[in-house]
Amino acid sequence: MKLSNTPITQHQFLDTTFYLKRDDQLHSHFTGNKARKFMSLLDVNDSTITTLIGYGSAQANSLYSLAALARIKGWQLEFYVDHLPEWLKENPLGNYRGALELEARIIDMQSLDESRHPADYITQVRKPDSHCLVVEEGGRSTMAEAGIKQLASEILSWSRYEGDKQFTVALPSGTGTTALYLHKHLQPHGIEVITCPCVGGESYLIQQFEELGEHNHPTILTLPNKHHFGKLYQQDYRIWQALLEQTHVEFDLLYDPMMWRCLESWIPMNPDRTLIYIHQGGILGNESMLPRYQRKWD
Ligand SMILES: *Cc1c(COP(=O)(O)O)cnc(C)c1O
Repeated sequence: MKLSNTPITQHQFLDTTFYLKRDDQLHSHFTGNKARKFMSLLDVNDSTITTLIGYGSAQANSLYSLAALARIKGWQLEFYVDHLPEWLKENPLGNYRGALELEARIIDMQSLDESRHPADYITQVRKPDSHCLVVEEGGRSTMAEAGIKQLASEILSWSRYEGDKQFTVALPSGTGTTALYLHKHLQPHGIEVITCPCVGGESYLIQQFEELGEHNHPTILTLPNKHHFGKLYQQDYRIWQALLEQTHVEFDLLYDPMMWRCLESWIPMNPDRTLIYIHQGGILGNESMLPRYQRKWD
């Protein structure tokens, strides 16, 4: 199975024209940047593998993508979560619901009466054998490079037919893995990559880049005020709504609003640049984020 070549569409926003790489359309379930990051696992042709093991938040986009990957490969996904909120268990929605529908086994560490970190529990108690594949939280791994390199080469092939525009690629970061490898494979071709730290601030993001062993990093944009991951901000909601109205594209509510708020000041200062924004998926997560926003500000 091969996934590639998502479309690039053209839109207007913030008084500018920009291009949108639709990685949210990679596959019906296996989409967005998690699919790019886990792409090399699609090529694993080892029939002794039966089980895929991961961990993270019960609402993470990676949970749903790993469930989709396991389904495609005929593996069982075992996914360890620190905490499974009672309300979510009783009323599954978003990535958690999607993963259950794809028959993921989601294991709540608290119900195991376990205080260890899921990563330690997996190595010390679960002890994966040769039938298991274990993946890092959020796909923060050098394994991600191959799939992201493919994304970079799709952008490059497309840009060759666009005359001599000066392209800048923008995407928000969590672990920074996607932005880092995109930068690595686009910068040599004169395409700049800009990103923003949605989790833990600028110094945390730089530290993540360094941990992946790369010393040449994408440009980091920040907002004047501290921005906390998963917290609701009225300006985030407003820009997300404006994007939906003006582009008719639904963006993710956790990462994309911060990047667009950074772009709001970046765009007027860089009129010579043509923006390519990467839509990294994550729409299923809006199923839980949107009602929170609506209760607060609609
Ligand atoms: C995971 C994710 C990100 C962050 O990706 P990193 O490679 O961890 O920086 C951004 N947007 C969406 C929609 C995601 O699912």
